[in-house]
Amino acid sequence: MSRITFEKHAQDGKARAGVIHTTRGDIRTPAFMPVGTAATVKAMMPESVAATGADILLGNTYHLMLRPTAERIAKLGGLHKFMNWDKPILTDSGGFQVMSLADLRKLTERGVTFKSHIDGSKHEITPERSMEIQALLGSDIVMCFDECPALPADRDRIASSMELSMRWAKRSKDAFGDRPGHALFGIQQGGLEEDLRQQSAQALREIEFDGYAVGGLAVGEGQEAMFGCLDYAPDQLPEDKPRYLMGVGKPDDIVGAVKRGIDMMDCVLPSRSGRTGQVFTRRGVLNIKNARHADDPRPLDENCACPACSNYSRAYLHHVFRSQEMISGMLLTWHNLQYFQDIMDGMRSAIAAGEFETWEKDFHDGRAEGDIEPL
Ligand SMILES: [Zn+2]
Repeated sequence: MSRITFEKHAQDGKARAGVIHTTRGDIRTPAFMPVGTAATVKAMMPESVAATGADILLGNTYHLMLRPTAERIAKLGGLHKFMNWDKPILTDSGGFQVMSLADLRKLTERGVTFKSHIDGSKHEITPERSMEIQALLGSDIVMCFDECPALPADRDRIASSMELSMRWAKRSKDAFGDRPGHALFGIQQGGLEEDLRQQSAQALREIEFDGYAVGGLAVGEGQEAMFGCLDYAPDQLPEDKPRYLMGVGKPDDIVGAVKRGIDMMDCVLPSRSGRTGQVFTRRGVLNIKNARHADDPRPLDENCACPACSNYSRAYLHHVFRSQEMISGMLLTWHNLQYFQDIMDGMRSAIAAGEFETWEKDFHDGRAEGDIEPL
């Protein structure tokens, strides 16, 4: 089995289009990864996720290690077989979710101990254990175990956290070893401090990874600060490897990140919003529970090819949402995931054609127009 490789096909400004070749298929970049937290993208069949154009999914180490456990998934043939998804899977390291979800966390040089938010059981994740869990799951792209402070945080806290994450990155690489067909990504930290980001990038380059993530953003700093950091952070990472912005984001965050040289992103937003009635379209965001949709025979977005838009009216979608029918979450999630993948597809074509700027203007103009007029 060969290594995972990245081929850049086109660049327009800083925006890049290319392909990550894996043994489980190609990932077209820029890529958006739907989140399959507990071995499912909620409300979606895996074949439906694939039909939206997703080339890769993200799985959450923290959730899967607690339930059903990585060992059980390994015995059952690995995560791909377990959840019936044969394309690439990226798993996070568990670190971020321990910090945001678990109880009684204790952070030491060795790793993190915590109590499960599900049943109170005690667990430990170290860089070595994170690599072991991600190997048991059979993840194609494995993430280094890292620590990330919520922003704002003071510079000393960000610096010491980044340095710890770099020591853990080295331990992650050593524990990962040589696994042909599987990739290990390093994670840059350093908050909003350009020099700390640079130090982090340098430390990661010395260890050498198959790809590099910009970590520690989308943690409460706001879009302007995030873009400010993305104006330099991706440039500090190797040019010939994929760059992944973790946990982003809203459609305009995604477009702004790609513009600044990011190749991969993930977010629960399209699927989570689908279950709460929030719908993303070319003309901004709408809420299907609003009374204005109750008699509206038109689709959510007449230019969208997803089943929700092809076969159902706003009136129907409004009705099933209000009635709390399961098909509501299924259709709205499908639409939202389709919209996010359509954005990625649009950007890939625009970058290839050298027309990213025009595409970006159309994207913002469409959203500024707002939803179609009520009937
Ligand atoms: Zn649609």
